[in-house]
Amino acid sequence: MMSENNYNDEKYFDENCIFCKIVEKQIPADIVYEDEYTIAFKDLQPKATIHLLVIPKVHMKDIIEVDEYYMSKVHSSIKNIVEQLGLAEKGFRVISNCGAGAGQSVWHFHFHLLSGKYERFDNH
Ligand code: AMP
Ligand code: ZN
Repeated sequence: MMSENNYNDEKYFDENCIFCKIVEKQIPADIVYEDEYTIAFKDLQPKATIHLLVIPKVHMKDIIEVDEYYMSKVHSSIKNIVEQLGLAEKGFRVISNCGAGAGQSVWHFHFHLLSGKYERFDNH
């Protein structure tokens, strides 16, 4: 699938966004997977034995704003990570909090990829 969007447009980067800074390697993260379109790193405050954040390398604020092109890239990355870490056998969860009312705190679309002992997000 091709996209006609120009993802180099400045609207796809937010200099104040912590996840854009991780994409640009301006701040450190424990990166476990990276390709041309996405990056995945360990959540700083894990809610499960394995708790990764899988994000597009463009700034789109949530699951509504992310486009199908990048959604498909994130989906591919999740499948690659699941295979690399052997998570299919263990079982895993994929969660996206959308909106402050659902506990979203970073306004750059991300999936939480969780496996193992798991603590719910209900405290948000
Ligand atoms: P949400 O609350 O669904 O928006 O998820 C944001 C997640 O990002 C939280 O689980 C935070 O623990 C995590 N987080 C925030 N800053 C960082 C960071 N610099 N490195 C890794 N994880 C982070
Ligand atoms: Zn961002």
